[in-house]
Amino acid sequence: MNLKKTLLILFSLLFIFLSPVYSAEGKVNYGKPLLKVVILDVWQGDSILIITPKGKVVLIDAGMGGSEYMKFDAGKMVIYPYFKKHRINKIDYLVMTHPHSDHIGGLPYLLNKIKVNKCYDCGMPYTSGLYMNCLEIISEKKIKYVIPSGPATLKWDPYLKVKLIHPPKKWDYSDNPNNNSLSLKISYKKISFLFTGDIEEEVEEDILSSGQDLESTFLKVGHHGSDTSSSVNFIEAVNPKVAFVCVGKNNKFGHPSASVISRFTERGIKVFRTDYNGDISIITDGENYEIKTERKVSKDQK
Ligand SMILES: [Zn+2]
Repeated sequence: MNLKKTLLILFSLLFIFLSPVYSAEGKVNYGKPLLKVVILDVWQGDSILIITPKGKVVLIDAGMGGSEYMKFDAGKMVIYPYFKKHRINKIDYLVMTHPHSDHIGGLPYLLNKIKVNKCYDCGMPYTSGLYMNCLEIISEKKIKYVIPSGPATLKWDPYLKVKLIHPPKKWDYSDNPNNNSLSLKISYKKISFLFTGDIEEEVEEDILSSGQDLESTFLKVGHHGSDTSSSVNFIEAVNPKVAFVCVGKNNKFGHPSASVISRFTERGIKVFRTDYNGDISIITDGENYEIKTERKVSKDQK
């Protein structure tokens, strides 16, 4: 092993042991293959980075941006710098949950900087300049482009079970793009994550009545904690231990709704928020997990 490699390993270990752990269940065995999920703080929008046990890189959404009129571009200002800092130079699987600008805005910048192997899109008819631009770059760069329908299993990593739970086959696209969000459940042994983009209550009901197993350790709260999502029935079916809200401080939508947050906390579900905590990283060996946050957890979050 050369010196550079040894130093790199030492620094990574130091990073692991010195970063504060704000929440944990059991002790993660760092000698085992690990799944890492990072809820990136992209202000008002979603972007979730997943590094699978086999080292595959998955990105679900890319926050806002993509327009010369917008000062903030999550691709340029958050996601690409994070990739550079952590020496990530490819995306194996890119998921565009739905074509709203707070989910695909950072993509034009990112697609021009990072090699992407395969892209999943909900495929609804949509004609915004931003979305068209994304499709153009995807085609120019010859990125594999798939419109999946559920229930389906995606073969990303032999250690994981990845299930597409929405939209179903023969789905009549909703006029409300939120409700066309590609939704995924990712399980690694005993630990699982549910990502539902911005789906709203009526689609939560559809998914519930489809009879799919929704129970998950972690839930990315739908639609930035808006009260149009996270119905009680849905929360109880998912029965998460921890919920994450992707939300920007002082956003014009008033997200998240206080009543939605209390639907979680009243049930003893711990809530982490990107506006309070910054980037939120979860590391799991499939049995236990640790959550580390960029900013300290406030008293009322404990
Ligand atoms: Zn959104």
